[in-house]
Amino acid sequence: MIRYFDHSATTAVDERVLKEMLPYFSKEYGNPSSLYSLGKSNKEIINIYRMKIANILNCKVNEIYFTSCGSESDNLILKGIAFANRNKGNHIITSKIEHPAILNTCSYLEKFGFKVTYLSPNSEGFIDVNELEKSITRNTILISIMFANNEIGTIQPIKEIGEIAKKHDIYFHTDAVQAMGNIDIDVKKYNIDALSMSAHKFYGPKGVGVAYINEKVPFIRMQDGGHQERDKRAGTENVAGIVGLGKALELATENIEQYNAHLKELRDYYVSEIKKRVPYIRINGSMTKRLSGNANISFTGIDGSRLIAELDKKEICASSGSACSSGFLNPSHILLAIGVPNNLARSSLRISFGKDNNLEDTKYLVDSIEEIVKKLRY
Ligand code: PLP
Repeated sequence: MIRYFDHSATTAVDERVLKEMLPYFSKEYGNPSSLYSLGKSNKEIINIYRMKIANILNCKVNEIYFTSCGSESDNLILKGIAFANRNKGNHIITSKIEHPAILNTCSYLEKFGFKVTYLSPNSEGFIDVNELEKSITRNTILISIMFANNEIGTIQPIKEIGEIAKKHDIYFHTDAVQAMGNIDIDVKKYNIDALSMSAHKFYGPKGVGVAYINEKVPFIRMQDGGHQERDKRAGTENVAGIVGLGKALELATENIEQYNAHLKELRDYYVSEIKKRVPYIRINGSMTKRLSGNANISFTGIDGSRLIAELDKKEICASSGSACSSGFLNPSHILLAIGVPNNLARSSLRISFGKDNNLEDTKYLVDSIEEIVKKLRY
């Protein structure tokens, strides 16, 4: 029996979401741009879900753009805003612990003359808002800081950042791919001008995302073609995917408190048991202001990829922050940025709990880790 503890990587589509999506594959298959009813009704369903998502985010319906994933939303927002506002300035502020969808987009923009400040987090994984404000120049056009981190789960001071951005008249984007479905996000309350989300992180399908962009923010499209998404994102809409994203977000929002309580109970049990039973560990990132289901622990002397492989033999799915490239294990840029030494960054294990995990699975996880760590250390 597979025990899945990698919900930050992706989640299984909820049965209720799948049921809602199914008709749009084979019965309601019309192209939303077509002029006959089979197509027009799909345009309507897209707009119904657009409205539901706008209500959840507390924004206007015409501020929601459907995309193919979180990475596309990040690209569209950063490049679209940067190029459209080039006459106002060329400076962008972000952090060293963003997802590659942000970091690599920033490097791309640097090739076109944009200057990017990459803020360092503190050892707990938080951005210093005073440092952020000090790094603003008269050329700053955009601040992009993630809502919650994908590896250590830390939740950034989004409200304070939004206030600073507003005070200095700078656009504020947040990559909320990990936060959406876990945290109630009201874009007005947080002064967020643009936001990225991705359905597969909250029990929706893969291959569909949303870019929220406030109507006051000038941006240019990144994909040329037809007139879909009010001329801002060409391509025939993924109707089933959009329905799935909307339904999944609706379900997640209805149940957010119980969901967090459930994840927190399992995560806290896991961390306290590992602390008791496994010596020489390091907990990465603050244990407060963190996603309820996230735990990131380094096991001294253990290679993260071997730990994952041993867990896999026991049918446990978990993740190491390190990426393997050309046969070498690269330590996670996020762990290095918060000051985790190289060897410990290579020894990390990210556990991210989800709705179908229970205490019994978690006990099996702890027992397995204890056994594997003993075996690999001696
Ligand atoms: N941003 C963050 C914080 C993420 O965790 C991820 C995916 O893990 C992405 C962006 C990219 O999302 P997608 O997989 O939908 O492209």
